[in-house]
Amino acid sequence: MLRFAPSPTGDMHIGNLRAAVFNYIISKQKKEKFLIRIEDTDFARNIADKDKEILSILNLFGLLWDDLVYQSNNFSKHQQFANFLIKKGRAFYCYCTKEFLESKKQEAIEKKIPFRYDDSWAELQKEQNPKPVVRLRCQEKKMSFDDEIKGHIEFESNELDSFVILRDDGIPTYNFACAIDDMLYDISFIVRGEDHVSNTPKQMMIQKYLDYHKKIKYAHLPIILGEDGKKMSKRDASSSVQYLLSEGFLPQAILNYLIGMGNKTPTEVFDLKEAIEWFDITHIAKSPVKFDLKRLRYLNREHFKRLNESDFALLLGTTDLSIGGLAKLFLQEASTLNEIRTKIDLIFSPKDIYKLYENQDFSKECQMLFATLKTMLANKDYAKSDYEEFKKDAMEQSGLKGKMFFKPLRILLTGDSHGLELDMLFVFIRMHLQKIVMIVE
Ligand code: GLU
Repeated sequence: MLRFAPSPTGDMHIGNLRAAVFNYIISKQKKEKFLIRIEDTDFARNIADKDKEILSILNLFGLLWDDLVYQSNNFSKHQQFANFLIKKGRAFYCYCTKEFLESKKQEAIEKKIPFRYDDSWAELQKEQNPKPVVRLRCQEKKMSFDDEIKGHIEFESNELDSFVILRDDGIPTYNFACAIDDMLYDISFIVRGEDHVSNTPKQMMIQKYLDYHKKIKYAHLPIILGEDGKKMSKRDASSSVQYLLSEGFLPQAILNYLIGMGNKTPTEVFDLKEAIEWFDITHIAKSPVKFDLKRLRYLNREHFKRLNESDFALLLGTTDLSIGGLAKLFLQEASTLNEIRTKIDLIFSPKDIYKLYENQDFSKECQMLFATLKTMLANKDYAKSDYEEFKKDAMEQSGLKGKMFFKPLRILLTGDSHGLELDMLFVFIRMHLQKIVMIVE
């Protein structure tokens, strides 16, 4: 089984989504189940309803799960495993106070040596501290694993010590809950962010001391850097999946982008189903990748092009095919749904003819042409006419010529003084002219 294990402690980051999609793809390739495990063990940091938000994002991206579990439901199992380890002498109670450990850390800093827990401290403060934690008794001098992306990774003895598995309130730590659940759900392959590399030997140690010997494969994903080359933080808006969706990026374009990031792919534009056919995690580059908004915008346009007019119209909240057609046309100038919507809204809003366009006042001509078009539209239905016929009538009846005709015409039809060719636009707007030809009073 493969799993994605989000913590409901913050917004879904594109790095999380990248891990989710890779786990999903591998589950499909291996024909194994895909589990979502909500890691809700950090009660102080859990945010109400974040779990539902994460699930609805996964659903929207088509990353459908076979099973869903909340880690806190397994607390009693985690505690049973901790008791088993204590009985076997592989875990022990540690009564050290926070202050004591802090002073030991300071000592290590002063001596310029790495801080390591010393098992002989365990009961020094048994009298002062009625609430012990439980630590796994580290017996390793060296540990290593082969990462599918990063290659062979080794941990020396100064990186390994007896670490906490149950807190003083009996709640399992992330590493313990994670290692137990990966074991209970028979996880075969774990893809996650590289911030978890140092947790991997701990989780392997827990499973080893529980006599669980299944070899789990690991792939740790390099971090995603912001466009400035610095680590992308929560403050970078585009790192939030919700933000990208709200800007009008399509889920399929975001997935395409994340799968292609630092990767060799057989085609540039693809969907999830295609990626399942060729995806190979070992092709993901080891080094961090920069988030490239331009590329995401390009892929968004490409995925919009794959939509037909009726699907495009639905995304814009209508069943009117001409709006879908108009939207496709605007792909020449716009990349996101919001940008396209803004352009379409401008067409259907009263036009501000008193604005200076290109530093020039066209208001008088606009007014003349507006009056002409109103009369024209009252006398004739242009819903099936071609642009030439409409233009000819408007020019003749207004008496305007050249720029003094074309600019006002464009302003009255689109709300802007430049943009796409009017003859291309006309077929999609001719049935709406009555609504379109309006000015701000
Ligand atoms: N809850 C952890 C996270 O969101 C999961 C890490 C893992 O996949 O083991 O980073």
